[in-house]
Amino acid sequence: MHATFSPEELAFRDEVRVFLRDNFDEQLAARIHNPKTFKTATIEWQKKRYDKGWVAPGWPVEHGGCGWTDTQKYIFDSALAEVGAPDVPPFGLKMVGPVIYTFGNDEQKQRFLPGILTGDTWWCQGYSEPGAGSDLAGLQTRAERDGDDYIINGTKIWTTYAQYADWIFALVRTDNSGKPQQGISFLLIDMRTPGITVSPIIAIDGEHHLNEVSFDNVRVPVANRIGEENQGWTYAKALLSHERTALSGIAYCKQVLSKVRRFAAEENDDGSRLLDDPVFQARMADIEMELMALEYTELRVLATVAQGGAPGMESSLLKLKGTELQQAAQSLQFDVAGLYGSVLPTEHEVGHAFGDRSRREYMYGRACTIYGGSNEVQKNIIAKFGLGL
Ligand SMILES: Cc1cc2nc3c(=O)[nH]c(=O)nc-3n(C[C@H](O)[C@H](O)[C@H](O)COP(=O)(O)OP(=O)(O)OC[C@H]3O[C@@H](n4cnc5c(N)ncnc54)[C@H](O)[C@@H]3O)c2cc1C
Repeated sequence: MHATFSPEELAFRDEVRVFLRDNFDEQLAARIHNPKTFKTATIEWQKKRYDKGWVAPGWPVEHGGCGWTDTQKYIFDSALAEVGAPDVPPFGLKMVGPVIYTFGNDEQKQRFLPGILTGDTWWCQGYSEPGAGSDLAGLQTRAERDGDDYIINGTKIWTTYAQYADWIFALVRTDNSGKPQQGISFLLIDMRTPGITVSPIIAIDGEHHLNEVSFDNVRVPVANRIGEENQGWTYAKALLSHERTALSGIAYCKQVLSKVRRFAAEENDDGSRLLDDPVFQARMADIEMELMALEYTELRVLATVAQGGAPGMESSLLKLKGTELQQAAQSLQFDVAGLYGSVLPTEHEVGHAFGDRSRREYMYGRACTIYGGSNEVQKNIIAKFGLGL
């Protein structure tokens, strides 16, 4: 990672800024943040990036990746943050896509990767169950072989955006005889298959992000299994380490801080600005310094991955520290919004839009230390594999 950019990198940064100026604006951002228009606006944004060839920076070039250096990825993320452009949901591009191109067969790659890249196929993640979260290997959703199909019975929970998803990638139990990790398989399941029911769970911010997904004698072709039967834990673990790396949320944190900075720069009636307040400046600087340290750590991990390595215990470290910083940034944003942040949404717009978003992000942000594996569990992983305790 270079502290200064080469002329080629500066030219790339200009190109990214021009692309964002021409393809992303506040109306599109508002539609992405509005639950009613979230899906269509997100697909629209993803397609713009796809058309430019800039949708999957982390993928190998032969599967549709950008072939960027780490510095280019950094420049791209920073430019997105400057204009407040969100990333697209991770379930296809950052989770199941890498599993398919790493462990799937040629037919699965040809069938599923194009829709993930264009955004035409939406995915959700069916790992957690009512009795299996931190102890994921205890999952009980059964898949019983019946000719060329599996018959699935069981329940998944906390399934983010299942209401929008065309497909779910799920861990299912295909064998009960050995250690819990040994009898799990990784299946790709069409959400339109008869027997699947999606029931909403309303989150603390009053919105519908989460669901329970139940499977009642759902028939899934064996051809939709990734890799070997009973080896799903291996593929799931690879995905989890990528997921946790992605969950560090550095680009998101930068976006929150740049929104806070813009809001704090607005003048009060007496001409003063929060931006000039030393207490505010100190709090902002604390978060920014930690964020910069985390960013360099992430770049080091990504460089290892680019050279064929896998993110190991470091992915837990990134998840742990990144989610703590996300919550610190969200708390700052909520505090800065002041009274505007406590206005509950009504049919009519009340107060400053910044206040509404700050409240929603603060509330939903409480979950980031839980999802993707709770932070307590990440500490256990760091203690065991990082510190050898
Ligand atoms: C907003 C949100 C979105 C989610 N989206 C998805 C999704 O799309 N797909 C999906 O499959 N799952 C999803 N999840 C589920 C998530 O992965 C689980 O909630 C998480 O793994 C924790 O599991 P649990 O809820 O069963 O809690 P539990 O495992 O019951 O844990 C309860 C508490 O005990 C602590 N604990 C448990 N075991 C240990 C231990 N060994 N040492 C120390 N402390 C421990 C935990 O840290 C936690 O505080 C989502 C969760 C949330 C909140």
